[in-house]
Amino acid sequence: MPAQFNVAIVGGGIVGLVTAIGLQKRGIPIKIYEQSSMFRELGAGVAFTANAMKCMELLDPGIVDAVNAVATPNGEDMNNPNDYMRYHDGYHYDPTDPSNTDDKLLGLLFSGYKGFQGCHRAHLLDKLVKMVPESVVDLGHRFVGFEDRGPDKKLLLRFQDGTTAEADAIIGCDGIKSKVRQAILGVSNPASYPQFSHKVAYRALVPMNLVIPVLGTFKALNMHLHTGPRAHVLHFPVVNQTLLNVVIFVTQEEDWPLVDEEHASVLRSMTADGSRAELDAVFESWGPTVRSLVGLLPDKMVKWAIFDLHDRPLPTYVCGRVVLAGDAAHASSPHHGGGAGVGVEDALALSKLFEIVCESIKLDHDQDINQSRLNALLEAAFNAYDKVRPPRSQWLVKSSREACEIYEWAYPDTKDDWAKCMVEIERRSHKLWYFDIEGMLSELEMEYRKQLTRG
Ligand SMILES: Cc1cc2nc3c(=O)[nH]c(=O)nc-3n(C[C@H](O)[C@H](O)[C@H](O)COP(=O)(O)OP(=O)(O)OC[C@H]3O[C@@H](n4cnc5c(N)ncnc54)[C@H](O)[C@@H]3O)c2cc1C
Repeated sequence: MPAQFNVAIVGGGIVGLVTAIGLQKRGIPIKIYEQSSMFRELGAGVAFTANAMKCMELLDPGIVDAVNAVATPNGEDMNNPNDYMRYHDGYHYDPTDPSNTDDKLLGLLFSGYKGFQGCHRAHLLDKLVKMVPESVVDLGHRFVGFEDRGPDKKLLLRFQDGTTAEADAIIGCDGIKSKVRQAILGVSNPASYPQFSHKVAYRALVPMNLVIPVLGTFKALNMHLHTGPRAHVLHFPVVNQTLLNVVIFVTQEEDWPLVDEEHASVLRSMTADGSRAELDAVFESWGPTVRSLVGLLPDKMVKWAIFDLHDRPLPTYVCGRVVLAGDAAHASSPHHGGGAGVGVEDALALSKLFEIVCESIKLDHDQDINQSRLNALLEAAFNAYDKVRPPRSQWLVKSSREACEIYEWAYPDTKDDWAKCMVEIERRSHKLWYFDIEGMLSELEMEYRKQLTRG
């Protein structure tokens, strides 16, 4: 029997879609409101860590199939993947040293079997979209606010075109510039807006046939992170090893203004035109491997300002029956490759909570439930989420910034001591990947029961 309530999901990115798929699997009626006229993923590659893959399995095994259908293993033999992350010194180079100091290997980190496989974002999104019926998707609907009309009423969503919709609960999966976050915290609250991390990322997909002659087969087909002062370079193969996904992080001292002083809620763009000439200048004194990789990039590229919620973590992810998930709640810099993955954990947490609400309804009435009781159950569920999820997701935001410092030899505890850097990288990566998911689910249930007895 379908649940006796309906959920609005604002935003159809990775987190909105996996949340929708998870709720759908549990028989919960949903509607996705997406501002764009079509689903689209910006950026090039994305990879998922072990925690994300396990949550996907629990949400709906079809999501894992979707990822695997577009994922590319590392290594020359795709059936026997090379599951290591490799950290190199991309900076130091002594041309007079016959033992070749260029791009020295500093450390290896085992990521588990097929532990961190690259996916082309657009290809993944296509697969996820196919798992959601068209009838539950409203494209071209830009959320601008909601109204809580009291404990015995449904919530009202408002869209930019003047239309409205009703739902019993709202999940804001509307990304880093989230309008749902602004609606919960207030447009004049500085915590409603992300902050510039003083890093910009240049992203490109380079045809593998151009890469192999320059980097060699091994480097081209395996994930590498080239470290150095004030910048670092990450690459891994995608699309069956036909393309190399390259992300180059560079320090930018000047600010990147985002909030329009006159119209606080109107946010400026987080991208700008970038060029290879800018990168040639940044990497002028680096080793030949990194410089030759930069040489493969197109003359013109998009430059992405890296914003996150580091300086002002949200005081809450919840307001009544409205909740935030994914980047809307905890936009992180990408240095752990974990932002989307922790958003998938949110999706599982919410799916579990809705499942428990359905059980409560069954125990209560077995028939029709009145709106105020339903609203109280949903609020208890979201309050439980707000107790359990923020410590982990806000840790990711903080640790991601610190991971960047480690890669760039600037973290005070490790500087350029790579034995120490590797210990720190492993400790943090394992905390992200080997998360106690069952523990989280039990904690959510316990907290929900506590909230109900309190309420
Ligand atoms: C360079 C880089 C590399 C990364 N690599 C990885 C990686 O390898 N692994 C990983 O786990 N994470 C990675 N991340 C992080 C990851 O990309 C994000 O955490 C993830 O995409 C967030 O998904 P989301 O669904 O929460 O938000 P988004 O993907 O931003 O989706 C939000 C959706 O909401 C819609 N929307 C916005 N406003 C409204 C509105 N008002 N009304 C209706 N719809 C709206 C948008 O159109 C969009 O479709 C990386 C990030 C960057 C910048």
